[in-house]
Amino acid sequence: MILEPIAKVARSTTKKRFTVQYPDSRESLPDGYRGRLRLDMKTCINCSACALICPNKTIDMVMVETERGPKKMPQVNHERCLFCGLCEEVCPPKCLTLTKNYEFESYDRREFTTRPEELEA
Ligand code: SF4
Ligand code: SF4
Repeated sequence: MILEPIAKVARSTTKKRFTVQYPDSRESLPDGYRGRLRLDMKTCINCSACALICPNKTIDMVMVETERGPKKMPQVNHERCLFCGLCEEVCPPKCLTLTKNYEFESYDRREFTTRPEELEA
């Protein structure tokens, strides 16, 4: 009886570790995967619908200098984001979209607050 768990541990130590493959090899993500938000500042109409619909108050409308003068655009706190997709759904010109980017980890919480200009990247 006691030998079975010991055998399992022994087998697991000789198995290839999958986590060490990252970031050299990555799994492909399914369609509809919800990752970091992206903003196309050129087509944003500054309507604030994304900020109003966000259930976790993740989006703040902040001032940005644009070719059309100063405008308010969404700033996203990815630390609070639920990746629910409501902001994407409600955006009239579809300029705010969820991407497949999941690599935005940080030791500094302030880095999760993403300005409109950074959301373009
Ligand atoms: S995906 Fe959901 S939680 Fe995240 S910013 Fe959009 S509405 Fe808010
Ligand atoms: S990102 Fe979309 S919903 Fe948000 S302010 Fe711009 S146009 Fe409106």
